[in-house]
Amino acid sequence: MADPDLVYLDHNATTPVCPEAWEAMLPFLRENWANPSSGYRFARPARQAVQTAREQVAALLGAAPEEIVFTSGGTESSNAAIRSAVALHPDRRHLVTCATEHDATLRPCEELAAQGYEVTFLPVDGEGRIDLAAYEAALRPGQTALVSLMWANNETGVIHPIAAAAAMAHARGILFHTDAVQAAGKVPLDLSETRVHCASLSGHKFHAPKGVGVLYVKSGARFHPSQLGGGQEGGRRSGTLNVPGIAAMGAAAEAARSHLAIDHGALARHRDQFEAELIRRIPGVHLHAARAPRLPGTSNFRLDGVDAQGAILLLDTQRICVSGGSACATGSIKPSHVLTSMGLGSRPARETLRVSLARTTTAEELDSALNALQTAAAKLRTTRA
Ligand code: PLP
Repeated sequence: MADPDLVYLDHNATTPVCPEAWEAMLPFLRENWANPSSGYRFARPARQAVQTAREQVAALLGAAPEEIVFTSGGTESSNAAIRSAVALHPDRRHLVTCATEHDATLRPCEELAAQGYEVTFLPVDGEGRIDLAAYEAALRPGQTALVSLMWANNETGVIHPIAAAAAMAHARGILFHTDAVQAAGKVPLDLSETRVHCASLSGHKFHAPKGVGVLYVKSGARFHPSQLGGGQEGGRRSGTLNVPGIAAMGAAAEAARSHLAIDHGALARHRDQFEAELIRRIPGVHLHAARAPRLPGTSNFRLDGVDAQGAILLLDTQRICVSGGSACATGSIKPSHVLTSMGLGSRPARETLRVSLARTTTAEELDSALNALQTAAAKLRTTRA
């Protein structure tokens, strides 16, 4: 049951399962629990559900159904794309990525660097944007195995110029992967119009359950699988399919697509109102990446002199969920690599909060968060003084 008192404003971390996804998955937990690879009639509904979901996800991405490979989520998809490119080009020892990528991309790239690969981690400016000319200069035809550049950043919402970057890589015979985990379902994507070879998606970021995702592999593009076994997904990702999760993700993709078609601008309007009100009510607010192209529902900002962890705890006592610009890694508070790459010092990063909305977010929820932030800022500033 949904908790009516909860004000959840951390949708870039995960989202609640939407009613469409919930309804779509139940039959495959209750009655139609067959393995979709089995040959008997009992397995047909499961097989059909996987095919329907493939078509629904493809429609969200402007892709063909056969370009959709079901995986366990964004981390697996990005790891698989990177490992595939490296395996396909054993003679190419260079990769290009960006300093603000998610760990699902950074960690495998760092591991390759430790194995002797050269990895260019593109810097970003103060708004979180890459410089396309610097990107182009980093591409090395015949040497670069892969570019991996995220479509949209999970902390700031900054959108990279993926179509242009993919075209530049393609013109030089270089494979291109994009982590589209935060973009899918939030902004229109048309992969058929881009030169992207692989793209990662994660169901739980667009109202499907956790533990299910997609790797898009462009038709005709070569792919080397990481996971070997029963040969499911055309040999591109072995393992018995998570039918309930996949059916749910298909329904969630369809719901996201129809929502995008109806009111693409609503989320941005909500976010902009929230930010305007934040600045009006609280002194010392700095919006991050507000001049860059951004996801419509993400707001990343700093409250001068307010410890973000303290604010998160105070909001939590009122059942309001937001997140910060630093993460607790092995017991110590580490400033986010995204913010430090944008030139923020560790103190401003520790004063940074992220509020992320969904299509279900209401004006009342945002108002409660604004009230709570106003009180928390005043209280934490007094404590410090
Ligand atoms: N990439 C981005 C940009 C993300 O925000 C996340 C999740 O936080 C992931 C990858 C990882 O996805 P998953 O949780 O499905 O492994």
